[in-house]
Amino acid sequence: MSAALPTYEDVLDASRVLDGIAHRTPVLASTTLNDRLGAQVFFKCENLQRIGAFKFRGGYNAIARLGPEQRRAGVVAFSSGNHAQAVALAARMLGVAATIVMPNDAPRAKRAATEGYGARIIDYDRNTEDREAIALDLAQKEGLTLIPPFDHPHIIAGQGTAVKELLEDVGGLDALFVPLGGGGLLSGSLLAARAIAPDCAVYGVEPEAGDDGLQSLRKGEIVRIGPPQSIADGAVTQYLGKITFPIIRDQVRDILTVSDAQLVAAMQFFAERMKIVVEPTGCLGAAAAMNQCVPMKGMRVGVLLSGGNVDLARYGQHLQAG
Ligand SMILES: *Cc1c(COP(=O)(O)O)cnc(C)c1O
Repeated sequence: MSAALPTYEDVLDASRVLDGIAHRTPVLASTTLNDRLGAQVFFKCENLQRIGAFKFRGGYNAIARLGPEQRRAGVVAFSSGNHAQAVALAARMLGVAATIVMPNDAPRAKRAATEGYGARIIDYDRNTEDREAIALDLAQKEGLTLIPPFDHPHIIAGQGTAVKELLEDVGGLDALFVPLGGGGLLSGSLLAARAIAPDCAVYGVEPEAGDDGLQSLRKGEIVRIGPPQSIADGAVTQYLGKITFPIIRDQVRDILTVSDAQLVAAMQFFAERMKIVVEPTGCLGAAAAMNQCVPMKGMRVGVLLSGGNVDLARYGQHLQAG
């Protein structure tokens, strides 16, 4: 093992970088839910973070740490989702030029938001072209620094600051549920939880259809799966990262999965009872807690709501379903 893994020290550094820059998002609770579960549940609302998701934390931390030459040359990222907006906004705030490689069929709202932050968008055809190759080619030709979505020490450390805040704000927790895609959020959360609340059991939660993380944990090595079909579009990654996996393997209590129907029920609960918009991927941790995927009676439970960016038409359909 050669790559140095990030530590809680890196989370603390990220927390200093983000102080006064990222929102210290609120922690909400629902008496109805607490009564139903016989537990105390604390929701860390990263759906209310800048750009509507925790990804601003990691993106800003990674770009803020670049040297003057790298900043002058600019950064590149490939994403159609929240990472694109995070890199675009963070780069603009830091006076760095951003290029985002995005599929030509990306939702118009996401594209417009990314452009609105001043990023240059490079289109690709997701059926015939490889976005990573395009981004690496641009990086080489133009001297841009690639900002990866999850497998990077500064990204992981930045994402870990959300759980650091949650634990500071509510005190000890018995269990914590965190959405899992490529594992940047979960590995950062583990670094924070291990340091601040070592007895807290941390669970990663994936969509049922994209359970590569669970398979990897069981097998003890990174398992690659085909493109998953789930409404949790921020967590349909096909494999964990070389940095995120060892942290997760060594520190996570377990990885759980939830169905799309359970995600829809959670979205409906947040809209109807708590008056907040949470995107399907953002509901992963909540769905595991609401369905008591592990025993929770009498416990203090943290849930990370990771994002709130929805396509309004699709969101409306989800709210009406069931
Ligand atoms: C990216 C994302 C995730 C997954 O994060 P990873 O660091 O890739 O595991 C979860 N929820 C939302 C809203 C996201 O944008």
